[in-house]
Amino acid sequence: PYAMDGVKRKRTRRLCDVSEWDDRMDYFVKKKLHIWCRLRNGQWVSGQIQSTSGEKAMVLLSDDSVVTLPVGDVLPANPDVLEGVDDLMQLSYLNEPSVLHNLQHRYARDIIYSKAGPVLIAINPFKDIQLYGNEFVTAYRKKLLNDPHVYSIADTAYDRMMEDDISQSIIISGESGSGKTETAKIAMEYLAMLDGGSNGIEKEVLQTSYILEAFGNAKTSRNDNSSRFGKLIEMHFSATGRICGAKIQSCRAVQLVNGERSYHIFYQLCAGAPPTLRDKLKLKGASEYKYLNQSGCLVIHGVDDAEEFRKLLEALNTVRISERDQEHAFQMIASVLWLGNITFQVIDNSHVEVVQSEAVANAASLIGCNVNDLIVALSTCQIQAGKDKVAKSLTVEQATDRRDALAKFIYANLFDWIVDQMNRNLAMGKEQTGRSINILDIYGFESFKKNTFEQFLINYANERLQQHVNRHLLKLEQEEYELDGIEWSKVNFEDNQECLDLFEKKPIGLISLLNEESNSVKATGLTFACKLKQHIKSSPCFKSEKEEFCIRHYAGEVRYDATGFLEKNRDELHPDIIQLLSSSDSHLPEDKKFSIPSSDTRVPDFHKQSVSTKFKDNLFKLLQQLENTMPHFICCIKPTDKQLPGMFDKDLVIEQLRCCGVLEVVRISRSGYPTRLKHQEFTNRYDFLLPKDNACQDPLSMSIAILQQFGILSELYQVGYTKLYFRAGQIAALEDVRNQV
Ligand code: ATP
Ligand code: MG
Repeated sequence: PYAMDGVKRKRTRRLCDVSEWDDRMDYFVKKKLHIWCRLRNGQWVSGQIQSTSGEKAMVLLSDDSVVTLPVGDVLPANPDVLEGVDDLMQLSYLNEPSVLHNLQHRYARDIIYSKAGPVLIAINPFKDIQLYGNEFVTAYRKKLLNDPHVYSIADTAYDRMMEDDISQSIIISGESGSGKTETAKIAMEYLAMLDGGSNGIEKEVLQTSYILEAFGNAKTSRNDNSSRFGKLIEMHFSATGRICGAKIQSCRAVQLVNGERSYHIFYQLCAGAPPTLRDKLKLKGASEYKYLNQSGCLVIHGVDDAEEFRKLLEALNTVRISERDQEHAFQMIASVLWLGNITFQVIDNSHVEVVQSEAVANAASLIGCNVNDLIVALSTCQIQAGKDKVAKSLTVEQATDRRDALAKFIYANLFDWIVDQMNRNLAMGKEQTGRSINILDIYGFESFKKNTFEQFLINYANERLQQHVNRHLLKLEQEEYELDGIEWSKVNFEDNQECLDLFEKKPIGLISLLNEESNSVKATGLTFACKLKQHIKSSPCFKSEKEEFCIRHYAGEVRYDATGFLEKNRDELHPDIIQLLSSSDSHLPEDKKFSIPSSDTRVPDFHKQSVSTKFKDNLFKLLQQLENTMPHFICCIKPTDKQLPGMFDKDLVIEQLRCCGVLEVVRISRSGYPTRLKHQEFTNRYDFLLPKDNACQDPLSMSIAILQQFGILSELYQVGYTKLYFRAGQIAALEDVRNQV
């Protein structure tokens, strides 16, 4: 009785193929089905086609007005049954307005998580939402809930790790401000709470985030708590599945002045240090320090730095960093601040002297060196004249550079030291289990009004990460078909290799050319930009003009200002400064000594490696470590540039979906079998098509029986061991019949 007539069968076939939308439009007209149409202002709105003539469609909008549009601006909408589905893959029509509508529909209901096949999409709510905490952890653990969630990703990773004994990774991508760091913390919290409590090592692991953020995050125009370093947190688990240790790896390019504010720790210390510490460090308010008061932004709206400092101390205590060590750290922070206040006065012509002030005196005493040694190291250059060394005074510019390089070195050294301390305290017990979950959270893609060396490195890292994600997603996609016994021809797709080549190719990639130019003493930002222009001619991702150059990244075009690239890439510590530091720390215990690059010019020491090369090596190390793990992906989306709740800027969202490869995965899946239903799900919904006596069969056999009864052409689906795989559009067709019965 339910066999389909010839007409219906034909329609079913037509519905499967997106490129036949033009033909299908008649059907949408006849059935008054909903469509999306793009108005002149570029917005997609819902409507119904009333009629078509030639290349025009008359569309009835929800406000009862009728507009005439080119048919190219009309796309099919999904049947109501698919409104707000969990997984974009379930949509019969995966066009952009449909995807956006689905995500927005959910977001408006505070459902910030959705799936796009294997990827979890997390849309930043910019407010607290009631989706976290003990009850939710328990519900996900007991599989009582399986709505898309970070918890569910972490839970799957945990189960896979325990069952297959394979290390897992959770890779979080997204633009600056999209919520990666918060998401990483939510995943860590879940893993820490699994076994009932976060008291011992679990609590310590969680507190590391707080410390890392204080020392490594800063306010930028895009994010009040922007990570200026990338991190990979390895969480190790015992045979019984409890956290037994952790390790943090970081990858960063330090810059003391970051966009709007410097690292949080400076302001926290200035605002929150108790009186005795204040005295010891000769500390003043943040507004008194040049490194902090130049940007004109000292506070973050809604953040109490003094309170944050109190929390930091608690965190430092939790991870068992001793009070003496804490004081050492704050001493280094204060020394950086005082260094920034050191000024120079010009004596003869352009040569300088250090101005005697409390700044030099305090900086010297905090670093632990003699004031005069500091003055000499900052303002003069030791030159060999025959057998003697003579001191030649520096120019203002050279002296300022030296001062800033020293401050930066002390800060970078401190960051590494803190990470080392935490790693030592969190090191796994004797038990080496090989079971770990690695969470990767780096700095997101950035494009400011002015972009410099730091953005260059950050965006390069994102480019690399993106390729890693894309390649794995495709692999996962193909593996799923293979595991479920589905025949599928592999699809190749364009990736960002061209842009990566632009960075990495030797000898004429951006990094090689930058290193080459950095070796030349006479080179400047301008000569560097010229060199790029001269050598890089064929890359479609590159343009240059004067001191600027433009890179077409996967996430958009960014214009970089070449000024300062060479200095930042060299990041040299002058031998005089090295000399100063090595004499200053002799009284310190071994673990607190500066890790000073060798000043011996004959030794090809690590310091000769440029910043960009070190950065690249570090990044490769992080990604390499992920290679042998089973990846899980979370793509964070920023729905507004305003850092405010309740906003959903469709253009911004679609741009990010395109960039983080989600639509690409979806697109690839479309060319395969995007709609997947477990046999049980399928039979539950459509078994009404079968005669009653079939009902006792197993789900797989029932699925096949339904498909046959339904008359779906065999090229439109495949039967896997666990699921049915349909070509795009098939569920809409099935639903259509279901509604008619
Ligand atoms: P960057 O690349 O600059 O480090 P990011 O992607 O790490 O950016 P986050 O710092 O994680 O971004 O998020 C920015 C802000 O968004 C947070 O400080 C927080 O206010 C808000 N936010 C993000 N995720 C959530 C969430 N799940 N719930 C509530 N607020 C959130
Ligand atoms: Mg971050």
